[in-house]
Amino acid sequence: MNDDFNGLVAATQATLTRIAGDFSPAVFASSLAAEDMVLTDLILRGKLAIKIFSLETGRLHAETLGMLDRIRETYGYEVSLYRPEPAAVDAYVSQNGLNAFYDSVDMRKECCRIRKVEPLNRALAGNKAWITGQRRAQSTTRAALDIEEQDEAHGMTKFNPLADWSEEDVWHYIRSNNVPYNPLHDKGYPSIGCEPCTRAIQPGEDVRAGRWWWENPESKECGLHVVDGKLIRIKSATQTTPA
Ligand code: SF4
Repeated sequence: MNDDFNGLVAATQATLTRIAGDFSPAVFASSLAAEDMVLTDLILRGKLAIKIFSLETGRLHAETLGMLDRIRETYGYEVSLYRPEPAAVDAYVSQNGLNAFYDSVDMRKECCRIRKVEPLNRALAGNKAWITGQRRAQSTTRAALDIEEQDEAHGMTKFNPLADWSEEDVWHYIRSNNVPYNPLHDKGYPSIGCEPCTRAIQPGEDVRAGRWWWENPESKECGLHVVDGKLIRIKSATQTTPA
């Protein structure tokens, strides 16, 4: 865990406050997983003017959907949901089958495009900045992650306020602040996506080993965070780097 955990939290709060003040309107794309619950807690307890939304792909676990109720009960907040276009889902399923994403990386990315990327584009439209719960240590595809980036594809700034956080930092925050979390995390799921594309992992496996486990690590992103490679990285001066 970070030697200066309180300083790490304070720096993250400062980043979120700066986003709410300088990048309004800003939105937070929550997957409802542990990292995103840390940010949800910081945003809602800090009463920051940042809208929280989630992509309801139609293939999420019941436990993940249950987090919407937990957030409502705990914070009195209604997470906005963005769903895929029904006609696009129907066309994909009728042409390829319900679970064609197992057949190839291209078929998987097309399913993610329909169920995640297109709804994300709708959710981001009209905003100045968006926020994610990504951490640098999560996978090889996120090793170069910065706290602040210029997302040219969406024409806005993208913030990853937990980029410097370790998994231990996340769980220390959750337990110290009694933050609700997805019960799947206690069943071997450190990273949670759609139900058919996520499995539990064994001790010692990479935290994202259970996501699209049939693919190479280099291809394991859903298109939400890399769009045509158009990401310019900007190192934020407002957050400390943990030990
Ligand atoms: S994670 Fe799986 S089910 Fe969900 S959108 Fe991507 S391919 Fe489709």
